[in-house]
Amino acid sequence: MKINRREPEKLLFELSSPGKVGLLLPEAGVEVPETKLSVPAAYRRKEIAGFPELSQVEVVRHYTRLSSLNHSVDHGFYPLGSCTMKHNPKINEAAARIPRFAGAHPSLPETYIQGSLELMYLLEEALKAVTGLARVTLQPNAGAHGEWTALMMIRKAHQKRGNPRKVVLIPDSAHGTNPASSIFAGYTTKEIKSNPGGKLDLAALEREVNEETAALMVTCPNTLGIFEEGIADAARILHAKGAYLYLDGANFNSFMGIASPQKMGVDLMHINLHKTFSTPHGGGGPGSGPVAVAEGMVPFLPVPMVEKTGDGYRLDFDRPDSIGRVRSFHGQFAVLVRAYAYILTLGGEGLTDVSKMAVLLANYIRVRLTGVYGLKYSGPTLHEVVFDDTIQAKRGVKNIDIVKRLLDFGIHPPTVSFPLIVHGALMIEPTETESKAELDRFVAAMKAIAEEVEQDPDFVKGAPYTTPVKRLDEVRAARTPVLRWKK
Ligand SMILES: *Cc1c(COP(=O)(O)O)cnc(C)c1O
Repeated sequence: MKINRREPEKLLFELSSPGKVGLLLPEAGVEVPETKLSVPAAYRRKEIAGFPELSQVEVVRHYTRLSSLNHSVDHGFYPLGSCTMKHNPKINEAAARIPRFAGAHPSLPETYIQGSLELMYLLEEALKAVTGLARVTLQPNAGAHGEWTALMMIRKAHQKRGNPRKVVLIPDSAHGTNPASSIFAGYTTKEIKSNPGGKLDLAALEREVNEETAALMVTCPNTLGIFEEGIADAARILHAKGAYLYLDGANFNSFMGIASPQKMGVDLMHINLHKTFSTPHGGGGPGSGPVAVAEGMVPFLPVPMVEKTGDGYRLDFDRPDSIGRVRSFHGQFAVLVRAYAYILTLGGEGLTDVSKMAVLLANYIRVRLTGVYGLKYSGPTLHEVVFDDTIQAKRGVKNIDIVKRLLDFGIHPPTVSFPLIVHGALMIEPTETESKAELDRFVAAMKAIAEEVEQDPDFVKGAPYTTPVKRLDEVRAARTPVLRWKK
């Protein structure tokens, strides 16, 4: 096969040649008077040693080429399981850039930001409607931050009754952030093994819950993409022992408008606005992880909350049982604007359709690739499906080889080796925004790779062939990063 590797982009330092400038301005002709505030002449730099010198067009092309080396949702299919890399409608961006939202100083008094407060109020109303829960804080910066915020509320609620309790129970199919958040909130964690169907084992839960159990954190649907149909029973078991049910609702995109967290008996849940409600994400932000709570948890919500007062809105700090602030100012406000724009453009029925489509598309892939890749839990799933490399491993090819080869097809790899309960996992989440033609292209690529594994496993193990760099040493990159250019 013809190999057509793209060249890596050189650094600006390497592209530099002495004397080149990007912009030539006439001399200002103004003498700046020396004052006692002036930086002493000896410390003033005339030149920055080794600073790259390039023309304007060279700089523009450098950054344009760099930007096109990144795979993004706007470039192509991005089936990264658990991350919900859906298309983000551009109208949300236009809304987030409206000058009166984007330009408002975060310290402005309430009277000047009535419109922003109204948007926060209405977004909370919308999230209340879709979860069925009593109130929602919009402060947390991310899903994991929402988990921690909720756990601090759980701690406060237990403390109020005399004992903060010690243990948070977490199924082995939960998202990895759940145990981390629990530890940060001062709890120890205990794992509950899934049953053979990949679901929460209610008998095991019943055995584990006692007076030291603070809460159960359930990822629903779990990281296998399977809906926890026993969740309402889990709530009853927990509530009987005074423990709380926490729902990790980062993947609410798979059942919003279809199943009600309130009816499940959920006490607290977080929602990832940057997944379900469409904000560009990846590379660490920006995100927003609002926490919705049932009535009993309302007193413990972070301050401030937005309240309606006659014909206006105000920030309420007078909440004596609150856990306090978890974020400066008004949360990740631009993400709130995007989420609200997304909700308004779709409406209630539109949101339900999002979930139905996300589930349909994941199941289409599940059916089309069954038999081609291993499938430990073969039942229907919601928004994602977890295949594995058991068939290819017989030829010495691992999940990582398969997804590196996928790069040559212009497709972003799915999540690999997660969840941990599936060995060699390939976790695929198409989201509702892909066309059938795109899914068919993905299926064809996955089938072609499976075929290559049969014909020539070493070829697949040598992938990728078309990317500017081959396989990076990820351990070295993390342990000994080189962040500075030196000759
Ligand atoms: C993404 C995700 C999280 C964490 O969200 P962040 O915004 O990345 O902190 C938690 N749980 C589940 C199930 C997720 O998919």
